[in-house]
Amino acid sequence: MEKQGKRSNRLVLVPGSFQGHLNPMLQLGTILYSQGFSITVAHTKFNSPNPSNHPDFNFLTISYAAYDSDLSSGNILALILRLNVNCKAPFQECLARLTEKQNSDEEKISCIIYDELMYFSEAVATEMKLPSIILCTGGTTAFVSRDTTVPRAEGNNFLQGLGSKDIVPGFYPLRLKDLPFSKFGSLETMTQVVKELRNTRKSSAIIYNTIDFLEQSSLARTLQQCHLPLFSIGPLHKFAPALSSILFDEDISCMRWLDEQTNDNTIIYVSLGSITQIDENELAEMAWGLANSNQPFLWVVRPGSVRGSEWIESLPEGFEEAIGQRGCIVKWAPQKKVLAHAKVGGFWSHCGWNSTMESISEGVPIICRPNSGDQRVNGRYISNVWRVGLEMENELNRREVERAVRRLMVDKEGLEIRQNAKELKEKIQLCVREDGSSYNSLNELVKFIKSL
Ligand code: UDP
Repeated sequence: MEKQGKRSNRLVLVPGSFQGHLNPMLQLGTILYSQGFSITVAHTKFNSPNPSNHPDFNFLTISYAAYDSDLSSGNILALILRLNVNCKAPFQECLARLTEKQNSDEEKISCIIYDELMYFSEAVATEMKLPSIILCTGGTTAFVSRDTTVPRAEGNNFLQGLGSKDIVPGFYPLRLKDLPFSKFGSLETMTQVVKELRNTRKSSAIIYNTIDFLEQSSLARTLQQCHLPLFSIGPLHKFAPALSSILFDEDISCMRWLDEQTNDNTIIYVSLGSITQIDENELAEMAWGLANSNQPFLWVVRPGSVRGSEWIESLPEGFEEAIGQRGCIVKWAPQKKVLAHAKVGGFWSHCGWNSTMESISEGVPIICRPNSGDQRVNGRYISNVWRVGLEMENELNRREVERAVRRLMVDKEGLEIRQNAKELKEKIQLCVREDGSSYNSLNELVKFIKSL
C-alpha cells in the first residue's frame, strides 16, 4: 500500500460495542492511520476500548449508560434498538464539541465510519452534513441473505418457514434454518432491527471485512440491492496484525504450552467466541468428547460462559485425571497467534465471522458448531462452499464430539478438508499482497475517502 507521512483529515470511527465488532473497527483505524488520516474513536461507556492501547488515536465517550438489565438480559437486539435511540443526541454533542475545536486541515472531520449496528451515526452525519461509510464486520452473504429475506412489505410471511431444511431460493446452499436471525431476541425485534438498518442506509459506501473471491455472488447481489460502492478489504487483521484483544485479558501461557507439544498440526483449538453461552451439561459433553478423542486440545472457556457457573468448576469428576497434560484450558487466548501456531491443526468454532476469517487465513480447518445470528451462514459456507470444515449439527454429545474431532484431525475422511484449508490460505495470502484484490480495494478506499 502507498504510505503517507503527513496526517491529513480526521476520521471519526464508531465501533459496535462488542468484542467481535470492536476488533475490526480498530484494525481499520490502524490501517487508515498508517495512510495518513487522524483517527477519533467514539465509543459507548460500556465495553469501551482502553485508550492506552492505542496511543495514536483520540477517544470520545458517547455518554449513554446502558441499563444493567439490558446488558445482563442477553437480549442484544433490544439493547441495539435502545442504544440507537439513546446515543444519537450525546454523539451529536461530542461531534459538535470536536467541530468547534477544528482549526486546521488536520482537525477537520472528513468522514464518519460507523459499524452497521450503530446506525444512529448515519442520522447524525446527515444532520451535520458529513459523509459517512458503513463498516460491516460480518460476511456479505449473511448481510444480503438477511436483507433479502426480511419482508419489505407487511403480509409477506416467508419467515414463517424459518427452521426448515428447505433451501432459501437463490441462496444455495443456505437452508431456511441457516438464515442469520439472532437467538438474542425475538423474531419481531430482529425484523425491526433489520428494517432500521435498511431504512438508515444512506451512506456513501460500505466496507466489508471479506475477500472478493470468497463471496463473489453475494457481493454482486449487495451491489445490485444497495447501489453503493463496496470495498472488500479483508482479512483486516492481516493488514493490522499487531492489534490484540480489546475487552478480555489474553492468557499467553497457552503459547508456551503449544510450544511444548511434540507434533505439528495435532492440537484442536476450541473457542466459542465472546458471547456464546453453554449449559453445564454441554460443558461436560464437550469435555468427555475431547478427552475420548485422544487428541491434544487448547480450550477457551470464558468466565461466565457456562450458565450457572463462574468458570469451569462444573467440569465432570475424573476429567482432569483423564486428560493429564493433554489439554490446556484458559479464560481467553491470543486467538490469532494460536491459529498461526504450527502445532494447531484444527479449530472447533462457533463460526463468528472474525474467527472464520482468522482460521481460514491460517489454513486451519474448522469444526462448525454455530449458535446464533450469522454463524450458521458462515458455518454453511465453511463446510459446503469453501469445503474447509465440517458441520456438527446434531445434539451435542460426547460421541458426536469425539467423532468430529477425529474426522477433522486424523481420519482419512478429513484429508480433503485439511488440504482445501491449506489451499485456501494460499489464495488468501495472494489477496493481501501488492496487487491482490483486498490490497487494491484498500487503496481504492483510501482514495475514495480522500475524495469525499
Ligand atoms: N478471541 C480471542 N481470544 C479468545 C476468543 C476469541 O482473541 O479466546 C477473539 C477472536 O480472535 C475474534 C473475536 O474474539 O477476533 C471473536 O469474534 P467472532 O466474530 O469470531 O465472534 P463473536 O465473539 O462476535 O461471537
